[in-house]
Amino acid sequence: MLHITCNAPLKPLNTMGIDGTADALVEWGSASDLHTFFTDPAYESISHGTIKAIGQGSNLLFTVYRYEGAILRCTDTTIETIAEDENTATVRVHAGCVLDNLAKQMCDKALWGTENLSLIPGTVAGATVQNVGAYGAEIGTMVKAVHCYDRQEKREVILSHDDMAYGYRDSALKHEPLKNRLIVVATDIVLSKKPCPKLSYGNLHRTLSHLGDHITPLDVREEVIRTRRGKLPEVTETGSAGSFFKNPVVSPRAHRQVIEAATNMGIDTSTMPAHETITPNGEPGIKLSAAWLIDKSGWKGYRRWNVGTWPTQPLVLVNLTGYAAGIEITALARDIIADVRAKWGITLTPEVEYL
Ligand SMILES: Cc1cc2nc3c(=O)[nH]c(=O)nc-3n(C[C@H](O)[C@H](O)[C@H](O)COP(=O)(O)OP(=O)(O)OC[C@H]3O[C@@H](n4cnc5c(N)ncnc54)[C@H](O)[C@@H]3O)c2cc1C
Repeated sequence: MLHITCNAPLKPLNTMGIDGTADALVEWGSASDLHTFFTDPAYESISHGTIKAIGQGSNLLFTVYRYEGAILRCTDTTIETIAEDENTATVRVHAGCVLDNLAKQMCDKALWGTENLSLIPGTVAGATVQNVGAYGAEIGTMVKAVHCYDRQEKREVILSHDDMAYGYRDSALKHEPLKNRLIVVATDIVLSKKPCPKLSYGNLHRTLSHLGDHITPLDVREEVIRTRRGKLPEVTETGSAGSFFKNPVVSPRAHRQVIEAATNMGIDTSTMPAHETITPNGEPGIKLSAAWLIDKSGWKGYRRWNVGTWPTQPLVLVNLTGYAAGIEITALARDIIADVRAKWGITLTPEVEYL
């Protein structure tokens, strides 16, 4: 069912809790609703030619008080099993389904894959676009196909796993020519019936290895939830969009320069997180921790008017009072970027999308 609200309040549409108004909120349930909307002569006057598909707005920052365009949000939360064999189950998850609800249902069925992603806010559509990840798992590795509506061609299309070109918090849907053109309607996700716990990140190994072969997805989910609750703000209490910056991937030389700078500042680098990886150009790189760089630059627990960084996780910028404007957050982000660049020679890039 298509439902259109003009002058829709923004606050319920983003977890950062930024207030404002959108020209229109278009709630849709199916690809045929989208087709009706995009082929209706009223489309231009409702959207002014600008649309943004969102999930729970948990990775977005509204930087303007009035969003001049139409926000599209899916209301279909269905999860259906579409194929099954001895080793796997494939589920089709509609765009509006909350990722944590999917994780809960899959863990309840003893299916492996989504347990490490428990409690990440947002919808499965948002996760599909962002390639969300946590504790060594990424949703992209489980995605088999993505069903979309192409608003340019005005027809449904299916993208394969390879078409999605998944990378670190990245997919083809975040880039031209597909960005804001394809709207995710449903995602096919393959889960394993055979145990495949991923325990190498955080304290999962320490707390769960004693379970040995008896470990279940639910055990992992519960531990992930416990750990996340202790570290991150509850979005219903404090506005945030999760990690505000991406972890930078730098050359081995830049990594050495960070160590040198830290040593000159008398900072112990023995516990500095650094993981070997490959850069998008195919060269060897080192993934550093943006949180470590921000923390060691002195921003942990920083407060300024309505905004600040979260005391236990400085990578998370927060709307402390609930009254912050988007530009207060962007100003804080700009100051952090400039300070980290001055101290470490590394330019942080926002993971959060500015609108
Ligand atoms: C407290 C907190 C903790 C977080 N922890 C993590 C974490 O551990 N790991 C992690 O990866 N992320 C994390 N995040 C970030 C966020 O939860 C994810 O990026 C999530 O996938 C966003 O989903 P969403 O539905 O809210 O998408 P939105 O924020 O609404 O949108 C994100 C992007 O997806 C696009 N999009 C959404 N729906 C559609 C659709 N139907 N069709 C086409 N495009 C669409 C939007 O246009 C936008 O570009 C966290 C956020 C918060 C607030």
